[in-house]
Amino acid sequence: MKFENSLAFACALDKKDPLKDYRKLFHIPKVNGKEAVYLCGNSLGLQPKSVEKHLKIELEDWKNLGVEGHLHGKNPWLYYHHFFSKSISKLVGAKESEVVVMNQLTVNLNLMLISFYRPEGKRNKILIEANEFPSDYYAIEQQIKLHGLNPKDCIVEVMPRKGEVTLRTEDIISKIAEHKNELALVMLSAVNYYTGQLFEIKKIADVCCEHKITFGVDLAHAIGNVELKLHEWNVDFATWCSYKYLNSGPGGVSGVFVHEYHAKNFSLPRLAGWWGNDEKTRFEMRKHFVPQPGAAGWQISNAPVLSMAAHKASLEIFDKAGMKALRKKSELLTGYLEFLLKSEIRNQKSDFKIITPSEKEERGCQLSIQTKKNGRKLFDKITKAGVIADWREPDVIRIAPVPLYNSFEDIWKFANILLTA
Ligand SMILES: *Cc1c(COP(=O)(O)O)cnc(C)c1O
Repeated sequence: MKFENSLAFACALDKKDPLKDYRKLFHIPKVNGKEAVYLCGNSLGLQPKSVEKHLKIELEDWKNLGVEGHLHGKNPWLYYHHFFSKSISKLVGAKESEVVVMNQLTVNLNLMLISFYRPEGKRNKILIEANEFPSDYYAIEQQIKLHGLNPKDCIVEVMPRKGEVTLRTEDIISKIAEHKNELALVMLSAVNYYTGQLFEIKKIADVCCEHKITFGVDLAHAIGNVELKLHEWNVDFATWCSYKYLNSGPGGVSGVFVHEYHAKNFSLPRLAGWWGNDEKTRFEMRKHFVPQPGAAGWQISNAPVLSMAAHKASLEIFDKAGMKALRKKSELLTGYLEFLLKSEIRNQKSDFKIITPSEKEERGCQLSIQTKKNGRKLFDKITKAGVIADWREPDVIRIAPVPLYNSFEDIWKFANILLTA
């Protein structure tokens, strides 16, 4: 599509947008009494208006039924995690038995590492990105220590080439090949939180399969943002959070994917609790853990129903909109943002550059803008002007146009504010 830099053009795109009505399903925050230009859905997604109704259902059942809500509530709490299997399996490209909603992201990452990081002799290393999100890095370091090993000896980092910011698939693959007899695990984020780069998960999974290396993926910035096919790609396990693109509220519940291939491998070490036990005997209060097959067997505790109610409300919206349509709009929205910023960079030798890949196959909705000087000041200025975005030290502004609730008008307004700040 040929874009134009004008408000009228942006509004015309909104008019034609088949998903335009979804914005009305969300509360848009205000700055100085006016609707903010909210571009921070990669950090905290906006609140669907339907969350209140869903929360009320559970509050009422708790109020009126007490403990009976477990069996006789409108959405019986005992089975709450089942309510997500269908929606989540569609979002990550899995079978329903391969996913379960539980806990928080880094907790789940630790649970997965306990099962899937199995160092043996020389094969004891984990390959990760040098610029991985710190929480993932901490979890990996500690898990290595729990095996009595030294993270210095066991972490293999892939780094961008000199003068480059993002990674090349060929470099990830050659690093895996180089260490193929020493790697116990390859662990990557599907979309890097800082640069917004989307990795070629299928190609990397193929190489891991070829060398019999376990492959885990963090979907924090990928779920609800890009299309995923974890089952088909033969990813071993994955985790994610729901408060970013899944709009399920601060600290919202996380989930895991465990490939069917491992569903009945009960010899894998794992942490245990009654919720992962065979459902038929859970309440017989027997001794000795009998894990359920599939991802559900990694559950530990009973479901946090109040936070899951928000998740439920939000996933209903994803079910209706569908990832295919969302991704289509997302590519256009982000493409428009890129067009507006780039035409300006050419015109005025701007004080910033986009570090996110320009190929749509190599990114989700986020563009990361690296500032060259006075970046923090620029960020504070645009914040004052009504933009809610995200600042990452030392010099990056992350912008995430979200197809469910952002409009082309938002994008035009943002670019206009940034370029005149
Ligand atoms: C957001 C994010 C986290 C946050 O972890 P929590 O356990 O949800 O606090 C971890 N890893 C990555 C890659 C993230 O993007």
